[in-house]
Amino acid sequence: MRTFISFDEAIACVLGEASLMSVETVALSEAGGRTLAQPVVAPGDVPPFPSSAMDGYAVRSQDLMDDPDCSLHIVGHIAAGDSGGQHVEPGTCLEIMTGAPFPSGADAVAPIEWVEVKEGDRVSFSRSPEPNKHVRPAAEDIRAGDVVFKGGERITPAIAGMLATLGMANVPVRRAPRVRVISTGDEIVEPGLSLGSGQIFNSNGPSLRAQVIESGGSCTQHEHVADDRDAIEALLRRDLDADVLLFSGGVSVGDHDHVKQVLDDMGAGMLFWKVRQRPGKPLAFGRLGNALFLGLPGNPVSSAMCFEIYGRALIESMLGRAQVRTPLLSAVLIRSIRKVDGLHFFTRGLATVNENGQLTVEDTGPQRSNLYGSVVRANCIVHLPETGEQVEAGSHVRIQMLPWADLS
Ligand code: AMP
Ligand code: MG
Repeated sequence: MRTFISFDEAIACVLGEASLMSVETVALSEAGGRTLAQPVVAPGDVPPFPSSAMDGYAVRSQDLMDDPDCSLHIVGHIAAGDSGGQHVEPGTCLEIMTGAPFPSGADAVAPIEWVEVKEGDRVSFSRSPEPNKHVRPAAEDIRAGDVVFKGGERITPAIAGMLATLGMANVPVRRAPRVRVISTGDEIVEPGLSLGSGQIFNSNGPSLRAQVIESGGSCTQHEHVADDRDAIEALLRRDLDADVLLFSGGVSVGDHDHVKQVLDDMGAGMLFWKVRQRPGKPLAFGRLGNALFLGLPGNPVSSAMCFEIYGRALIESMLGRAQVRTPLLSAVLIRSIRKVDGLHFFTRGLATVNENGQLTVEDTGPQRSNLYGSVVRANCIVHLPETGEQVEAGSHVRIQMLPWADLS
């Protein structure tokens, strides 16, 4: 087992262990938030046929250009949903509605607003449309055979709309990793119960479960277990089918930190323990049977941040996400931050765009790992590299947006 490794080594180790989930097919109506497992190739053109973009008249633009005052003979009417196949001869036009198939012979639509006089089956216009005006060509958006999605995209409302446009009723997605969220601690009480002296509410269980679901994993319920080896082992043996075990608490060096020992006794392979980072130094990672486990330190800030950095990246990789969240953005630090030389810092930050359009960031106040308010106020994690005792105001830092927050 490696110990006291760098952030880069730790994240590389976690990502290196992630294996792709299997593919399953779900109804499009259930596919929101899931991850596309395969490329999507357009089976046909979008739009599939040329149509009118306005309510008006399908005309031959040349007729109106030759004689702007002419009146055209209305020979029919086409509505959206009509099968099409009509033809417009010189001197004639067809009444046409938005979305209706565009007739041959015609090359433009004179919108209803341009009608000057309409008497019986004759109409004249105040303006003449240029060729192609208000006609939507076929395949303007997508051509049959185009690769519309590469696979690995999270199915957003917009992607769901595009899949529907392509006529896909069923969508191949990655099975969601099944994650067990297990909070340890004799002092931990579920919200809703009454607190005895020395007890605190279990905040990590609910927040980790929400983070798991937000990242694309599945978790029916968080679990809690006392600081007791037998109880921890019994809980683990009850269900050995999970893909990921997420522990909060019990991975440090205290007398009551039993998680590592129990995992060890059960034959787990510990890949690393302790990372040169703050918060979350005692982070543990390894494999138990078919499951990977992450032992997150119990302090609520450490638990939340270590999940965002390691847990989310693990789940996103298992889902084959094209974009695994990383500290890609560069922001200007508003206020200098003191740190410990030799530890990579994950400082909770508030990023804003200043009046010059520049992305800036400041810390969200006191950063001790029990002060959860620093997470609630944050919209990003500021990555401060290992080396150095202070990062000066005005310097560029890497930030990672929190997926539930935005820049407003
Ligand atoms: P541990 O990592 O078990 O030593 O816990 C470190 C700190 O986090 C202690 O102050 C615990 O009381 C606190 N803690 C552990 N688990 C939770 C939890 N599920 N919810 C809130 N605080 C916790
Ligand atoms: Mg504990």
